[in-house]
Amino acid sequence: MAGQTDMELIKNGVRLDGRKPDELRDIKITAGVLDNADGSCYLEWGNNKVYAGVFGPMECHPRHKQKADRAIVQARYTMAPFSVNDRKRPGLDRRSTEISYIASQAFEKVVMVEEFPKASIRVDMQVVEAHAGTRCAAITAASVALADAGIPMRDMIPACASGKVNDIVVLDLNKEEDNYGQADLLQLDGHLSPDQFEEAMDLATSGCMDLYKIMRDALDKSYGGKK
Ligand code: ADP
Repeated sequence: MAGQTDMELIKNGVRLDGRKPDELRDIKITAGVLDNADGSCYLEWGNNKVYAGVFGPMECHPRHKQKADRAIVQARYTMAPFSVNDRKRPGLDRRSTEISYIASQAFEKVVMVEEFPKASIRVDMQVVEAHAGTRCAAITAASVALADAGIPMRDMIPACASGKVNDIVVLDLNKEEDNYGQADLLQLDGHLSPDQFEEAMDLATSGCMDLYKIMRDALDKSYGGKK
């Protein structure tokens, strides 16, 4: 949640974690890490750690959720109790329900759902360590897991945040920036001028392009394919 603050989060163009405004945190993606899922991914993004597992396409249950002409994507984002420093109550809460819903909507746009009438594709995203940006990390990991499951998609979805701290537009907010910064584009909270909004969009877009390469490399590595 972005809030107004005087806390110095950038000094001489360098952020508290040493990054420049347009730099991503370190990202490591591994596809095909779980034996029991049809497709899977483990992702480390800064200090965030996320697993994603995909099952399906399978017959959709409960039946009243089935669509006669397409599959539905049932995505579920959860944070482990030990993923944050104050133990989190296990299970879904309002925040994770909202993130799960948004992820389902996003994946239904890219998965070729029309090829699987009455089916369901289940996408489980489990955050095991959280340090801001977990919804982006989870959606990114789930995209790789969907590809790893061999589910036909128009493309993968890279997800990356941008925002504003100390009046400077920055890419991929860390925990301090998320807590004490002035805006978070992804959640549309805080204040951005029209120019800053444009700048934040451009930054997030180029961040997503860089992220996309890392996602592709992870799949190439997992399948031993060519780049
Ligand atoms: P995102 O992780 O996508 O940035 P938020 O902006 O809602 O989502 O959360 C920012 C960060 O706040 C999380 O990554 C996590 O570190 C922390 N956080 C979120 N929910 C909780 C919670 N229930 N308890 C403790 N910390 C939390």
